[in-house]
Amino acid sequence: MYYLYQYVKNNKFRSLNFHFAYFIRKAINASKDDEFIPANYFYKTFLNEDGEIAPNKKFNQKFHVAFENFFNVFKKLSMVKKKEFYDLVILTQSINKCFENTSILTVQNLQIAYLNNLLGNNKVLKELMDVLWLNLSSSNVWDISTHYSDFYDFLPSTKVCPFCGLMKITDKDLGREDYDHIAYKGNYPLSAILDINFAPTCCKCNRNYKKQQDVFYKEGVRRFYKYPFVLKGGYSMQTLEINLNGSTHPGIEETCIEGNWIINICPDNQSTKTWEEIYSIKTRYSSWVKIEWTRWAKELVFAASIDNNNTDEEKFISYMQKYKTTYSNFDLEYPLRIAYYNFIENCMSKKLFNYINSLLIA
Ligand SMILES: [Zn+2]
Repeated sequence: MYYLYQYVKNNKFRSLNFHFAYFIRKAINASKDDEFIPANYFYKTFLNEDGEIAPNKKFNQKFHVAFENFFNVFKKLSMVKKKEFYDLVILTQSINKCFENTSILTVQNLQIAYLNNLLGNNKVLKELMDVLWLNLSSSNVWDISTHYSDFYDFLPSTKVCPFCGLMKITDKDLGREDYDHIAYKGNYPLSAILDINFAPTCCKCNRNYKKQQDVFYKEGVRRFYKYPFVLKGGYSMQTLEINLNGSTHPGIEETCIEGNWIINICPDNQSTKTWEEIYSIKTRYSSWVKIEWTRWAKELVFAASIDNNNTDEEKFISYMQKYKTTYSNFDLEYPLRIAYYNFIENCMSKKLFNYINSLLIA
């Protein structure tokens, strides 16, 4: 995570998950001959006056079919299995605590294979959760528009994606960003409609990098994943330092004239390791520096040249030190630009100085 963002509590948006958990709790006591009568298993705000499933006061046929199919499988389970399933629904409600605590091994029982085995059926749970998620995300019955709008307002003013720090999160007036399921819903279906498991991200992070990766496991081994939300309080910067140590600046060495950008992220710990693994951070940052460094260098040299601060290396470095500090929020918006300036400061030579200055003419 580049930074942690603020969790938005919206009771309407959360309520579909409550209705689901309530249904499971009530269905524990159903016997195998019981019929599916919604009024017996749902809270009244989920029903219309005729006792039909109607969260929007209009009968919802898809919900009815999916809940009924699930119910007809669930009611036949032994009491032990029903209770175990319910316990897993409850464990899911605090799934946020599982991401960073690798000693919680029961997370394995939240996987679809285990749940299907418990139910003795491979279809009904997936179908139910898919129907619920589709309704939650594509209609506005559950107030997702307000949820996104509040979420967007709480982001730092740069509106940069907290997972990459590179792309902007879509403006709330232009649409809605992807809601990534931190625990992938295809594999952890009980968290498919749980708001603490949704992380709006830039579409590149969601679609090109994280995709269906399992944040809990890598090749069968539990791993640490930094939970992206601050549940109480505003967004929070991570204490990260990015540097380009070991890189080769383009145009300096005959054998590597194109240059080579190496990204180092400190601290190098479990949190940054998973971040890198899931979002290919170093590859993306390296590519970003490759594309942008010329512009960063030109802008610096141009600014320095206005008052003749680029006449020698010493003057230039001293100017660059001041130039960097004028961007007080660099740490959020331009971490790589700062890393680039730090890099050229550390390895400044006559050749590099001349090369960078020649860019203004080029
Ligand atoms: Zn991103």
